[in-house]
Amino acid sequence: MQSRNYKKSEKYFELSKKYIPGGVNSPVRAARAVHCDPVFIKSALGSKIYDADGNEYIDYVCSWGPAILGHAYPVVLEKVKKALKKGLSFGAPTKKEYILAEMINEAMPVMEQVRLVNSGTEATMSAVRLARGYTKKDLILKFTGCYHGHSDGLLVMAGSGVLTEAISSSAGVPNDYAKNTLVAEFNDSDSVSALFDKYKGKIAAVIVEPVAANMGVIPPKKGFLEFLRKITKENDSLLIFDEVITGFRLAKGGACEYYNIEPDIVTVGKIVGGGMPLAAYGGRKEIMACISPLGDVYQAGTLSGNPIATAAGIATLEVLFEHQEIYKHIDESAKILADGIEKIMNADIKRVHINRVGSLMSVFFTSKIVSCYKDVISCDLDKYASYYSFLRENGIYIAPSQFEAAFISDAHDSEDIKNTLEVIKKFGGVE
Ligand code: PMP
Repeated sequence: MQSRNYKKSEKYFELSKKYIPGGVNSPVRAARAVHCDPVFIKSALGSKIYDADGNEYIDYVCSWGPAILGHAYPVVLEKVKKALKKGLSFGAPTKKEYILAEMINEAMPVMEQVRLVNSGTEATMSAVRLARGYTKKDLILKFTGCYHGHSDGLLVMAGSGVLTEAISSSAGVPNDYAKNTLVAEFNDSDSVSALFDKYKGKIAAVIVEPVAANMGVIPPKKGFLEFLRKITKENDSLLIFDEVITGFRLAKGGACEYYNIEPDIVTVGKIVGGGMPLAAYGGRKEIMACISPLGDVYQAGTLSGNPIATAAGIATLEVLFEHQEIYKHIDESAKILADGIEKIMNADIKRVHINRVGSLMSVFFTSKIVSCYKDVISCDLDKYASYYSFLRENGIYIAPSQFEAAFISDAHDSEDIKNTLEVIKKFGGVE
């Protein structure tokens, strides 16, 4: 493999830093946790992305999830092009909005009614407001290491970039506000029960990533999600599944289908917008009736239900619904990759622990099982950093942080997986 040059990326990063804080518009992109400068991306196609200097990479970030069909999927591009010719935004309702809402409802029947918004952050923020408005209670319970976007009340002990940057909570969030967010431990039912006992009758909702994927991937222990369903019901609290990552990825019906659980409110993002800024939240009609203009919970958006974003979302979901064999394919590809890494890295001693749920996976640099936040933060982050650098230098693009998932798309073929494993073999025993 010839040595790569990153001259353009370096130049663009310098210019970006002049005008954009840290040179990036979302913190993890800066790659600080892995002691690198970011590569600037010029284009992407299928399973590959290309940086400004023309270097090619097999992409396991997949735009952090949306690119489940692979990048620049032709049918999606066609439908977006068609929509573009009709105008970019109207600020008035369109047919595509109810079509997308109907598709979301078909996949996740618990979302009887759906509101389209522009980002996962908006979806979860609105879902929490709705839960408070519906239950007339103030407290929210979330889990350490789960990330639900960057709205004030949800940035408490959050994962993703907040973990990467080692900020337990964000500056700028008044304590008076943050105190309305209770924090329990993922996969620890007792920690949830203790808070329900202590704050009896005051908890509006439990919000959870059904598969935690923002402290690396951590599957729910058997019975944990069922327990959350039960304790919320018993306490007249709502259960919110944040399926911004898992929705349309684990199955057509997301984690609700995968684990056969019916939450009260679900948030989806990423895949549902097919790579455009679109997300949604929804739930039973009776709950959704609280939202303005029907009810007194206010939520709005100039670009909500944007015609280009809905076109991309509908086109993406159409492909997924028509070709459900995609789920089998991405699951198998991820399994082959995970099994291969396990074989290479743990051949003589256990160097890594791999968690995988469907096409989501993480390679943790620890010899121990990883099932909660405490396990994640004890991983060897320097080893992850050298793994990241080696892979990137050899044409494999993974998340620049131990606390993120790898995403496998339908465009990743056996050649991609084989080539990835070849590179990991060269990285070998890490030492
Ligand atoms: N919820 C989850 C589970 C997420 O993973 C993310 C983003 N990665 C969000 C919410 C926030 O979504 P967005 O970045 O679109 O605001």
